[in-house]
Amino acid sequence: MQKDHGKSLCWKNQVICGHMGACELDQASAQSAAVRQIAQAQRQRSMLFPFIGRSSPFQAWQHYPRNDAVDTSGAWQFYYHAHDTSQDGGARHPREHGHIHVFRRSPTGQLSHLTGLALDARGIPLAWFSTNQWVTGERWRAAGPMVQGLRTLRLQVRGPLAGVALWIADLIRAYAAPLSEMVVARDEALASHCSRHQISTEQAWKDRSISVWSSFPIDWPNDVIALQGQVFKYFK
Ligand SMILES: [Zn+2]
Repeated sequence: MQKDHGKSLCWKNQVICGHMGACELDQASAQSAAVRQIAQAQRQRSMLFPFIGRSSPFQAWQHYPRNDAVDTSGAWQFYYHAHDTSQDGGARHPREHGHIHVFRRSPTGQLSHLTGLALDARGIPLAWFSTNQWVTGERWRAAGPMVQGLRTLRLQVRGPLAGVALWIADLIRAYAAPLSEMVVARDEALASHCSRHQISTEQAWKDRSISVWSSFPIDWPNDVIALQGQVFKYFK
């Protein structure tokens, strides 16, 4: 298994983790995610459809669904939205339409941000990213507890988002190894930033010039195609 993602510091202290090798993906989960996406495509729908449907206009900052989706265990919460791209920190990727924010949820409902997943206008995943504390106002948790259990993650949601919840869980399990490293890289970037600027963690969390601490691009669906040597014609 590849360990080093070729981390490099670039724009505004953000760590960009290099693209991981296909061997780092969980094959069964990656295939399951691809199959769900193809099934949705065969119904002439993208993976954005369960979130935003045909309702228009799509509004920046609004959560889709409006009150977020909470899985039946109460341990996870997620929503889709887009930032205003005219503002600094808008898109996380040049082709991004919006992104899914996924949170761990405490028994009292406090949220800790696990990851963002940027999607293009067709609902194709583009990149994972970790955010600074101010972005979502989260209760910050260290990488260790944040990434526990990702390889066996399940997301069960009732209603129209049930299918997309399973797809998100598939993707998180598929990318569990590099995702975990990305969250560790988040903590490392935060610590080195605080050390370099002689500021407290709390000061860094509130720094509006830093919205993303670490990210890595993904090449979907080529990552899963590379795993099994098949071509999913829908994506071509
Ligand atoms: Zn966001």
